[in-house]
Amino acid sequence: MLVHICCAVDSHYFLQKLQKDYPGEKLVGFFYDPNIHPYSEYYLRLLDVKRSCKILGIELIEGEYDTENWLEAVRGLEKEPEKGARCEVCFDRRFEVSAQKAAELNETSFTSTLLTSPKKSLKQLKTAGDALAQRFGVSFVAPDYRKASGTQEQNILAKEDQLYRQDYCGCLFGLTMQRDQQQKLADELFVPVSAQIQPESIEARIALYEKRWEVEEEGKAYRIVKQRFLNWRLKFAQLKVRKEVVDAHILPYSTLKNGYTRGKIDHIIGDIHYMSRDEVKFLSLESYNKLLGCNYATVRELIFNPPAFEKEVALRDMLGFSHYDLSSVVVVEEIPANKIELLVESETYADVEEKLLLL
Ligand code: SF4
Repeated sequence: MLVHICCAVDSHYFLQKLQKDYPGEKLVGFFYDPNIHPYSEYYLRLLDVKRSCKILGIELIEGEYDTENWLEAVRGLEKEPEKGARCEVCFDRRFEVSAQKAAELNETSFTSTLLTSPKKSLKQLKTAGDALAQRFGVSFVAPDYRKASGTQEQNILAKEDQLYRQDYCGCLFGLTMQRDQQQKLADELFVPVSAQIQPESIEARIALYEKRWEVEEEGKAYRIVKQRFLNWRLKFAQLKVRKEVVDAHILPYSTLKNGYTRGKIDHIIGDIHYMSRDEVKFLSLESYNKLLGCNYATVRELIFNPPAFEKEVALRDMLGFSHYDLSSVVVVEEIPANKIELLVESETYADVEEKLLLL
């Protein structure tokens, strides 16, 4: 039986139930989910599915990440709510490719872990699965593993086996709608030009789950714990000196009331050059290099290849600011002697991140 897999939280429980209910059946996992955006999130979910299949001794095949075809299929349905018409097309597309794959591999049946998701309508999934199975000459198996206390058992198992638990369905349309309703920043869709790994970004989660893979290979005991913290994202920044745009690097946790200010440097203490307004501070590239032990020749080089986020946060401590400091700190090659205009559009927000602790 070919088992279409959407994520480890759904598949880990579903596959174990199938192993119990169909003991004579060889199960083959099929990860086909071009609906997952961005690609980094797709990679992360796949990584966790690989781990789950490895634990359960199930072969896994990765389908094509043909996201362009998926986008074409749902064109015009971008504003549909979850469980609406876009989702029907999304299921159909994933089921169609899965049914085709099952036929190609000479399997007689296929099923999908989407059947366990409490966010999906079972009726909707069964209708789509049956129709496509018929077209490709296979059968669609649709067990209801949600009934009784199935969903609860699934959640307990996901916690026990420390699976990666995503908090959105998959596509950028569902994600942006969900974040709008939550009045939360869709930070999953942010990637800085510097490629610096931001806290609680998908890239940070990939690093954690890849580390977990290594730790498990080495047989070390660990625990993934959660913590609440203040997160930050820079949306846009620009420095102008005498109306000319100047290269500038903005330190993490820089914020600016109303996003804009202007003024001039009015005093210097140590390495810090204080602007006359809005708590803005300037630091020369020379001081930055000295304090962090770096060797950047230009600010542009720093912008595109900065040190780790945590190292830059530690710089704020070195400068003597409090842990709660949210002043804009701007690194420049030459401290401006003339009229300064600064734009910093950033957001700070309460967030939850995971940490891997070795026991
Ligand atoms: S919300 Fe989920 S099921 Fe619906 S279209 Fe997006 S990825 Fe597919």
